[in-house]
Amino acid sequence: MSDIIQLLPDSVANQIAAGEVIQRPASVVKELAENAIDARADSITVNIKDAGKTLIQIIDNGIGMSDTDARLSFERHSTSKIKTADDLFDISTMGFRGEALASIAAIAHVNVKTRQEDVELGTEIDIEGSKVITQEPTSCAKGTTFSVKNLFYNVPARRKFLKSNTTEFGHIMTEFQRIALANPEVEFKLYHNNSEIYILPKGNVRQRIVAIFGKRINPNLIKVESKTSIITIQGFIGKPEYARKKSGEQFFFINKRFMRSAYFNKAILKAYEQILPPETVPSYFLYFTADPSSIDVNIHPTKTEIKFEDQQAIWQILHSATKQSLGSNNIVPSLDFDQEQGFDIPVLSKDTEIKKPKIDIDPTFNPFEQNRPATSRPKSSKISLEKENLANWDQLYQGFEKENRPSDDFSFISNENKQQTLIDSDLSEKYFHFKNRFILTPVKSGLMVIDQKRAHERILFERFLNSLSSQAVVTQKTLYPKTIELDAKDHALLLDLKDDLKNLGFDIDDFGGNAIVVNGMPADSSNQEPEQIIDKFLNEFLSGEVDSKSDAKEKVARSLAKASAISSNQRLSSEEMREMVDMLFACQNPNYSPFGKLIVSIIKTDELEKRFN
Ligand code: ADP
Ligand code: MG
Repeated sequence: MSDIIQLLPDSVANQIAAGEVIQRPASVVKELAENAIDARADSITVNIKDAGKTLIQIIDNGIGMSDTDARLSFERHSTSKIKTADDLFDISTMGFRGEALASIAAIAHVNVKTRQEDVELGTEIDIEGSKVITQEPTSCAKGTTFSVKNLFYNVPARRKFLKSNTTEFGHIMTEFQRIALANPEVEFKLYHNNSEIYILPKGNVRQRIVAIFGKRINPNLIKVESKTSIITIQGFIGKPEYARKKSGEQFFFINKRFMRSAYFNKAILKAYEQILPPETVPSYFLYFTADPSSIDVNIHPTKTEIKFEDQQAIWQILHSATKQSLGSNNIVPSLDFDQEQGFDIPVLSKDTEIKKPKIDIDPTFNPFEQNRPATSRPKSSKISLEKENLANWDQLYQGFEKENRPSDDFSFISNENKQQTLIDSDLSEKYFHFKNRFILTPVKSGLMVIDQKRAHERILFERFLNSLSSQAVVTQKTLYPKTIELDAKDHALLLDLKDDLKNLGFDIDDFGGNAIVVNGMPADSSNQEPEQIIDKFLNEFLSGEVDSKSDAKEKVARSLAKASAISSNQRLSSEEMREMVDMLFACQNPNYSPFGKLIVSIIKTDELEKRFN
């Protein structure tokens, strides 16, 4: 029998390989934009026609290429970025495989114009289906312009497989956003069929996020920062009330490269547990910086999945950094969170020496010092969030008290939560009730407003969760056992939940027929009739989907907290308000109700002052 194995011609091999790197127009945008970043451009323009099916053009002002390099760049495995296999463990550029240009040239009509800074004439190359058609000198701006036309012109199956222009352009926007977010110090422009989609001036991370997602996101960003010897995590997370039904604003970057990670995503979701409205996802923009040798970007051809040496430790760091930022959100508005204007992420290059990160604390800085102009704080000093957190509660009241009352009039004790509880023999005039719904109380930075119903939901919910885990319940026996008629479905459901409810202090039994008997109610629930509470509980418990991820017990606790909380229309005495505020701030998450609704808001003194200008 004759031999049947042959070597594929290069053009066919290139086409096949191209399929792995270039799946759709968006992949071309990604590869070319990343090349521009690697070429140290600080301005990148992307021109798209017909969702990239007709034209994808990327103009950069980077270092450009020599005549020879320009020609060589289209060869497979041609790269200026690594030389030996060892370099694979120390990648600090976006590309390194030397495959992108070869792949693109195999399946499109490509024109490149490029010029290095120190030469007068640049070079222009036309290449089609891996064949160089022309190469000649040309006068052009410093940098490189790639124009990719008629993508997949020689791979009809691929071309047919492309989706509608809307879908394909959506993919392009996604890639563009990732690269633009990863490189805020680079100016980006995106045009589609000559209309302007994004003009993103150079800026810091916060400015870039706002430029892409709109002004509305700005007040909803909470800063995250954690520096440890294995990783630095910086960036922003969205406030719980900003959470969306759809995903789309979740971004992880590692050393300025977008990365996908279901594993790290969980660390964040876990930190938001119990403070997100059901079925919503939080936004996040988190930038990891790590020693390139501790990560492996080589495991996936399009490189969005990345392996870390210390996965679990990083998970923990990420989780607690997120949690800490959520905890400090809104409690400490008088601190410099508002003035903080984002940060610049360091550019990692091959020669960047990775130093063991250290946390700078300016020991003399006291954010609460009176009359200290904000600008007097040295720019370089950073205070860790933890320090700010610990200062929360006592400081919130201090200034106010100093000015208005003798200083021995109150004191603080700290509980195990490191939160501070206010105790005072007579603070009656400190709490004002408004519309029977809000508790108002002056604090250092302004006027604190607390939604009483949501506060009570939070207090009861945390207490219920504790009882579920510790079994320590306080039941208030009802004076007379109370019988309640239900329909068959509700009756069955309540009996199903009987044990959990009993753990929460809600003591019910089957009464036969479709009735139950209530023997006791959770202590501290509002003085509603048992019928009312049961009615509200069933309503809440049955509404919304039963999602498997939040466990059923927690759902029982949340629903019962809502059902038993006082209404938004109930008169409270000064003493009750004081108790409510105390209990609220002894909670782990005093800022948001178990349904993710805002509980506490502070009207700042300067906001008030402005109104009287
Ligand atoms: P890789 O990025 O993996 O090295 P590519 O095929 O994307 O492979 O690019 C091949 C080479 O072409 C790069 O290593 C770089 O030297 C050069 N190159 C590509 N795009 C540009 C650009 N916009 N500016 C300067 N050089 C470029
Ligand atoms: Mg590349």
